[in-house]
Amino acid sequence: MSSLFDFASPNNVNVQDDWFDDNSRRKRISGQGIMLFLYSIVVGFALILVIGKNFETPEQMLAEEQLAAEGKRANEEQLAVTNMTLPEVFEAENSEEVETFDNPSVEWTVQGEESQPEVKDDVLVVEKGDHFIGILQKLGMEYNEASQAAAALKKAGYDVRSLQAGQKINITKTVDVPFGELLSVDKIVIEPSASVKYIVTRNEDEKYVAEAEQQELKNENKTISGTIRNSLAATMRNAGVPQTVVSNFANIFTYKVNFRSDIKAGDTFRVMYDRKMAPDGRVVKNGNILYAELNLGKKNKIALYRYKDSSGNIDYYDEKGMALKRALVRKPLEFSSARISSHFGWRRHPILKQRILHSGVDYAAPMGSRIYASGDGVVQRAQWAGGYGRYVVIRHNSEYSTGYAHMSGFARGIRPGVRVKQGQVIGYVGSTGRSTGPHLHFEIIKNGKKVDPLKIKAATGANLAGADLRKFKQEVARIVAMVEKDSKFAAK
Ligand SMILES: [Zn+2]
Repeated sequence: MSSLFDFASPNNVNVQDDWFDDNSRRKRISGQGIMLFLYSIVVGFALILVIGKNFETPEQMLAEEQLAAEGKRANEEQLAVTNMTLPEVFEAENSEEVETFDNPSVEWTVQGEESQPEVKDDVLVVEKGDHFIGILQKLGMEYNEASQAAAALKKAGYDVRSLQAGQKINITKTVDVPFGELLSVDKIVIEPSASVKYIVTRNEDEKYVAEAEQQELKNENKTISGTIRNSLAATMRNAGVPQTVVSNFANIFTYKVNFRSDIKAGDTFRVMYDRKMAPDGRVVKNGNILYAELNLGKKNKIALYRYKDSSGNIDYYDEKGMALKRALVRKPLEFSSARISSHFGWRRHPILKQRILHSGVDYAAPMGSRIYASGDGVVQRAQWAGGYGRYVVIRHNSEYSTGYAHMSGFARGIRPGVRVKQGQVIGYVGSTGRSTGPHLHFEIIKNGKKVDPLKIKAATGANLAGADLRKFKQEVARIVAMVEKDSKFAAK
């Protein structure tokens, strides 16, 4: 090892000159000579550490020899490289070559093995307050280059000032591997919308140029079905249905199904929705549900079809053209987790202490929770009504009305004669009248008689008729054919 630093250290070369030129060597060896000697040891040792990275430890060499001896794949190439570079280093006796060792980084690049440019892809996400040039500078790009890229984008039709938080920027860059230094940014891709992509590259003069690439999106229908295990939403998500489609599916069925009590393990779902695909096969946007199906138990199949009627309204209908959205909502409350505190039926009244008909469903909910109109209709009553406290009745059609009791207050503008939409706020949960605590007493009145809201399937009209119904039937046939084709394909 001593020979190593003797030759490798440029300082050592000088020291040697000193020693050999002087006849009275012993005199100098003490004092200044010792200092130089120690200094050379320190410098030499540091260089061993640097150069040593190119060498193998005796154990490594031994291991490789053993591998070779055993006939296994010895790293001969690497040994050859090491053997080739070693003599060069050792034999470099003239000071010019030796001088390169003054700068370890130069030595590293000379060796070649350690420093290699590598192309890397990076996805940057724009954060609030970020701007394009700043992002590239943070990456290690020079200001001039970054603004050149921005100018190129502007020429291609994209203003970097329109960069939004959350926007992704795809970067292809070349970095220096051991140091991680940015050597160049070779490509920048920004996709501000699904239909266009801006690509920045470097031309032969190493100048940034950009182009806009219009992407043609393809419409596609996707059908997914599955058997419900614990919850419908979880089952659908596990089957690959996107979250937005899961939510819309639940919304469509809100008018028809009570998810908590009606759905059991073993029931099945099927959904067909449309989506937009980029040319590379990526899903750009999940669109509308065209078909939604639930099979509850063995006999209860509910299939809903999307249809745009002649006046442009889009709604979901069953196969006969009955509007499901306009069925009455059974739990017309903002507080969706409100529990039923009392069912419809005969019972002993807690305050009156006598057997009477409980003519509706009670939903316990926090004071002030919003109460919605169960369906489209006209307000018939909005006034104090004895034991019902503040009470609203909405007439939906010749057959159905709904009643809402014990309200703490009516919503603004709710008075007899006013037309309301399904889901519109009509009042707030309270405990007025004969009530033991804040709750909504909700009634469905069919032909003047109060019926159990949880048992009745009340549709309030706006069903398809005439030309719309004929067109709708064609649409149903088209959707059924698509669903069957997709399902067969999926089954294969
Ligand atoms: Zn009640």
